[in-house]
Amino acid sequence: MFAADFEYYRAGSVAEAGQLLAAHPGAKLLAGGHSLIPLLKLRLAAPAAVIDIGRIAELRGISTDGDGLRIGALATHAEIAASDAVREHAAALAEAAGQIGDPAVRNRGTIGGNVAHADPASDLPTVLAALGATVTVAGSGGERSIAVGDFFTGVMTTSLGENDLLTSIRVPSAAGRGTAYVKFSHPASRYAVIGVAVSLGIGTKGGGWISKIKGEQKETVCTEAAVAVGGLVPTPVRCGAVEAALNDQPPTAETFAAAAAAASGDIGDDLLGDVFASGEYRKAVAPVYVRRAIEAAAGRAG
Ligand SMILES: Cc1cc2nc3c(=O)[nH]c(=O)nc-3n(C[C@H](O)[C@H](O)[C@H](O)COP(=O)(O)OP(=O)(O)OC[C@H]3O[C@@H](n4cnc5c(N)ncnc54)[C@H](O)[C@@H]3O)c2cc1C
Repeated sequence: MFAADFEYYRAGSVAEAGQLLAAHPGAKLLAGGHSLIPLLKLRLAAPAAVIDIGRIAELRGISTDGDGLRIGALATHAEIAASDAVREHAAALAEAAGQIGDPAVRNRGTIGGNVAHADPASDLPTVLAALGATVTVAGSGGERSIAVGDFFTGVMTTSLGENDLLTSIRVPSAAGRGTAYVKFSHPASRYAVIGVAVSLGIGTKGGGWISKIKGEQKETVCTEAAVAVGGLVPTPVRCGAVEAALNDQPPTAETFAAAAAAASGDIGDDLLGDVFASGEYRKAVAPVYVRRAIEAAAGRAG
């Protein structure tokens, strides 16, 4: 089907995009177009105006800033997958970006569009939730930051306002910890049926003077566990029970299996399913992917 008629504008800067958004209520921003154009063609969206932000230089680029990464909204999935800085500071994000769709999708699709579109089956929101990322937004009231945990509000809905433009994403460095993203891909689209992101440290506990008096040995344990699950729930879920079952425990197969088993409680019962995989099936299988992601992250943590 053809898209309904719309007026096309190309913004040259974030400020100009803001002016165009204010002048055309209900307008849609166009980045890589891999989610918006199908919606226009299916007439699930019929905005009067489309504002192309794809050539705004200030939205590009991936850089390190202090103790983390600044990823411009227009960074493509392919650029993120190939970035040395992302691999060093947030390996799971590069791993997830490299598993998105196919090369055509990865070369055009952007992190800003992926996050703003808030498809529950998208990969990057789950990773950003585990890594504790923050979204930077330019709106009519100026610039503001939103923690990823507060950004996604439901299926394809976010806390972005009508005139907001997502400019960049800040990802704290996970260097020194192991991070991993493991997904059960839909065989046709490669969207996540289940996606699991884990960030995990391996450290030691004990060994202080009290421990020495008691004759206790230093013990190797899991630290700073952060686990998020997506694909089967409306928005990425941080798995507090899984994290609690990992922290301070020895990094053994038994610990990982027990922690993964706790995922069912974290996931809850607000489940998404389709003809390919019901919500109940996804929930039953999810702990397997949680365990695999924990094992992969632990292997990278040393
Ligand atoms: C065949 C196919 C397979 C796919 N497989 C996967 C997959 O496996 N995993 C996955 O995660 N994704 C997948 N995708 C989606 C892909 O990653 C999209 O590129 C992405 O979801 C949207 O990014 P985009 O740059 O194309 O955004 P667009 O399509 O241009 O925009 C999407 C939405 O976000 C808004 N938007 C865009 N940029 C901004 C911004 N900076 N600020 C505010 N709003 C903005 C737009 O207005 C629009 O509503 C697939 C897509 C296709 C077509």
